[in-house]
Amino acid sequence: MKNILIIFLTTCLFGVVNAQVNNRVIDTCTNILNPKDPKQIKHFPWRLPDWIWNNGQLNPYITEDQKAEEIKKIEILRKWNQESYPSADSLEDVIAHDLGSKFSLIDLSRQGKNYMNVGNGFNLSLLLDPAFEVDFSQTINKAASAFLEIALSERVLQEAFDSAILELTPKTEMYEIATTSHKQKYTKAYLNEIRWRIKPSSIEGFKQQIKNALSTENGDPALLIITSGNMPPWWGWSYLNYFYDPNQSLKRLAPPHNYIYIEFNTDSFSTNKSVAFWTSKIAHELLHNLGYLHPVYKCPHERDINNIGKNKAFIIAYERAIWKRAKELNLE
Ligand SMILES: [Zn+2]
Repeated sequence: MKNILIIFLTTCLFGVVNAQVNNRVIDTCTNILNPKDPKQIKHFPWRLPDWIWNNGQLNPYITEDQKAEEIKKIEILRKWNQESYPSADSLEDVIAHDLGSKFSLIDLSRQGKNYMNVGNGFNLSLLLDPAFEVDFSQTINKAASAFLEIALSERVLQEAFDSAILELTPKTEMYEIATTSHKQKYTKAYLNEIRWRIKPSSIEGFKQQIKNALSTENGDPALLIITSGNMPPWWGWSYLNYFYDPNQSLKRLAPPHNYIYIEFNTDSFSTNKSVAFWTSKIAHELLHNLGYLHPVYKCPHERDINNIGKNKAFIIAYERAIWKRAKELNLE
């Protein structure tokens, strides 16, 4: 069974309640969001977003007939999700795989803004949803560029690593009683915690992981796709481990490559226009794509009291260290 997390940041950061939807666990701050809402499926699909492959720019790689075929499958998926049909996940995988087969990394990265950061060896193309307002697009562009500058800052890495722990709090319940069988079973939260990354084994290893996400072995630009959503009060979303999921790889040419894929809420820009702030959000969501998890918090207060001093979840420690460094560089 797939167990893919959608993680997001909210205006009441990290306050979360677990919900199970078609084998995909969604953490929500409140239950305001209906995970079966077609708007959500439309805005943050578990595949290449439609604005990339269905806008005409990639017509040399995908025919009108192929587009129509995918759109037909997506419509079936929407119905199956609404009906909680068990095969919806499989169909979603098929659509993601089919779209990934049509393109290679270079096909998409040619469409984006190319950032070069020779010092860190990064080579990243940013593809931004045209639906973003101009001001927000400019801020995200600056934030992405700033992230490349400071992602591997020794001070940032050391601070994040030194203040992160493996034994996260609040401690997760290991067992629960199944409602149907009345037998003891592992809780979903516990399984998530032991299946995904909490803290890198070493700073050097983490640097390599970041380099692998923000550059490629053959010199093609790596790719960061930021799509827009409009589901207040969320700041952003990302799928856990998306960067390593074989269904999502771009494989028209060998070798196949995955890409970073996150969503920012268009309405959240009005709550914070700081480049430093959005740089830290890119950092946070990127780490979810790389498989890093933080605990489920019921409210911001619970998050804060569980992320003090040297007792932080690594993903939060890194996000905060990036934010601090970005502010030092006057990226307000
Ligand atoms: Zn998160």
